[in-house]
Amino acid sequence: KFTAHFQEEYTSEDHIKEEPANELANATYVMLVRNSDLDGAISSIRALEDRFNSRFGYPYVFLNDEPFSEEFKRRISVLTPSKVEFGTIPKEHWSQPDWIDEKKASKARQQMVATNVKYGGSVAYRNMCRFNSGFFYRHELLQPYKWYWRIEPNVKFFCDIHQDPFKYMEENNKTYGFTIAVYEIPATIPSLWPAVREFIDDHPEYIAEDNAMGFISQNNGLTYNRCHFWSNFEIADMDFWRGPAYSAFFEFLDSTGGFYYERWGDAAIHSIGASLFLKREQIHFFEEIGYQHDDWYHCPRPDAIWTKGRCSCSQRGSFDYNHESSCKPHWDRFITS
Ligand code: GDP
Ligand code: MN
Repeated sequence: KFTAHFQEEYTSEDHIKEEPANELANATYVMLVRNSDLDGAISSIRALEDRFNSRFGYPYVFLNDEPFSEEFKRRISVLTPSKVEFGTIPKEHWSQPDWIDEKKASKARQQMVATNVKYGGSVAYRNMCRFNSGFFYRHELLQPYKWYWRIEPNVKFFCDIHQDPFKYMEENNKTYGFTIAVYEIPATIPSLWPAVREFIDDHPEYIAEDNAMGFISQNNGLTYNRCHFWSNFEIADMDFWRGPAYSAFFEFLDSTGGFYYERWGDAAIHSIGASLFLKREQIHFFEEIGYQHDDWYHCPRPDAIWTKGRCSCSQRGSFDYNHESSCKPHWDRFITS
């Protein structure tokens, strides 16, 4: 009797149907990854498929500064029925510009190595930060898309995601979505805020009314409090990065050489851009997306959301209110002020 019941359930149309209820948004996942990170990439895709995408079918774009190996393409493509594309990044989007004073840049790198700044000696890491700040959304494989969800190798997704985050963004006039907010390492950005202030002075026309300056500064822009959205997870609108305000902002910051003379990260650059050029209500915190990158994770706090998501994370261990590096308490204060 039990078996019969089970079989009936299992073969019912509803149960095996994989079509999403609604139309898809014009959106894709994007992962920047090396061939050597294949196992980590597989792990991230598998989690995302299991928790969300097998029911929705959004496509994937994989980008690499070197051509992807046949092995990489084969073992990624087998994981999903979705469209999967693999792109190589043009050299101009991934190299230290000629006009950078290499002597000055290498001195800065040595200094950071001597003081144990993470990735302080790496030019590749700087190329990556600059690419993610100002170039990924210009890659030809991303041109057809408006929305993207950034993923990295070895990240975790803890909860079933019932509501399409892209459609949520679209229908609620959101532009930038995050799950974790943290403080930047001071040694990587000494001249970033002075440069941002110069840009603001020169381009007051780009600053949004009712912006999120209060998230990144506690004194109306005099100093940067180092809060930023952790950009290893992002669900956002590429047309915002492609637009006049952020484009001018990136070009100006790039022209100062700070990506190479210091070690500016794309998380701070994206966050400052979003905070200045968007209305605060266009920035969205995804409570329901349980997510881990390296040691830190966000787990939904409200019990109803955690239960509905069948989350595998501990709410008590969630980074949000349990770590001195979390900017979430400050975000909450700002957004409710
Ligand atoms: P972290 O998150 O700041 O610690 O930096 P990661 O090492 O995770 O790098 C951020 C993203 O860029 C990840 O998606 C990496 O896979 C990717 N990435 C970093 N360096 C390189 C590189 O040299 N080549 C490629 N193709 N991807 C890279
Ligand atoms: Mn990472």
